Amino acid sequence: MYNITLIPGDGIGPEVINSAKKVIEATGINVKWDIVNAGEDVYRQRGVLVPHEVYTSIEKNRVVLKGPITTPIGCGFRSINVLLRKKYELFANVRPVKKMMGVDTPFEDVDLVIFRENTEGLYSGIERNKDNDGAEAIKIITKKASLRIIEAAFKYAKENNRKKVALVHKANIMKLTDGLFLNCAREVSKNYPDIELQEVIVDNMCMQLVMNPSKYEVIVTTNLYGDILSDLCAGLVGGLGLVPGGNIGKEMAVFEAVHGSAPDIAGKDLANPIAVILSGAMMLKYLGEIGKANLIIDAVEKTIKEGKYVTKDLGGSSSTTDMTDAIIENFTLK
Ligand code: ATP
Repeated sequence: MYNITLIPGDGIGPEVINSAKKVIEATGINVKWDIVNAGEDVYRQRGVLVPHEVYTSIEKNRVVLKGPITTPIGCGFRSINVLLRKKYELFANVRPVKKMMGVDTPFEDVDLVIFRENTEGLYSGIERNKDNDGAEAIKIITKKASLRIIEAAFKYAKENNRKKVALVHKANIMKLTDGLFLNCAREVSKNYPDIELQEVIVDNMCMQLVMNPSKYEVIVTTNLYGDILSDLCAGLVGGLGLVPGGNIGKEMAVFEAVHGSAPDIAGKDLANPIAVILSGAMMLKYLGEIGKANLIIDAVEKTIKEGKYVTKDLGGSSSTTDMTDAIIENFTLK
């Protein structure tokens, strides 16, 4: 039996997390969910953003499925998501972006994985006002953090038969910080002679991705570029409702969709649950349950391809609930 921490989160979080829970349970896997919550709703009810039982549960179970969390302005926290990633050194934000059959997009052949450094860069949280005439933010790049995320990307490429890793940077301008990140990639790539290192400047990468995304297989980059490129790539394959993610550390992992809490559609049974369902499938793979993960992925693909029960963002008119049930139907019938 697996003990897993489940954090519903804010906005559409509880709806899509409930879908993912239902789908995971329908695979027949034996899971004991430890349901705890953090975020805006909890703050409103209890005056605390991350209650202590959230940390206790994460530290006990070490595997988490999480909905999007909103950090209210003025509560003393910058971002709970960033806090959790830093506190538990979840250094690799892994986001697979794959075009699925049945989704109407200009590109047929997008299948890439983004490795975003998750603990430093411009998310260092070091910002200050300067002489009442401006403000500054400090970008931190260390060799240790750069090497481990780049190594993770190359290792993934090797294990998954990918031939290229694109290192995205702006070392022509940020010579010390991005220069260090780039040099680390050159160092790591020496140990992977069969994998091509593509060095791509971030602005050029944006253009390349919207013109010819199939040129890329694995992308590794710093924190902010990774955040921006993730949303761009989500747009290439049908939007934020489809892209899953995992925040992976040495002995702990938090799985969550790329999308936020989408307050505009919250509570209406309209949200696309697939991003969180696929995050759940990533979690099952992490736990070694490859067969059950693939069962979910196949059922999601089949449901989208059939096009009968898809949500509004994919051009359909189904509710979150109906789409979830259709996904389960598609694998229980196998
Ligand atoms: P955050 O700052 O928390 O990342 P955000 O403001 O950037 O959030 P999202 O909350 O991710 O953005 O939503 C951006 C847009 O995408 C919204 O219009 C939202 O309705 C849509 N969207 C996001 N997730 C989904 C989903 N699962 N299903 C359908 N639409 C979604």
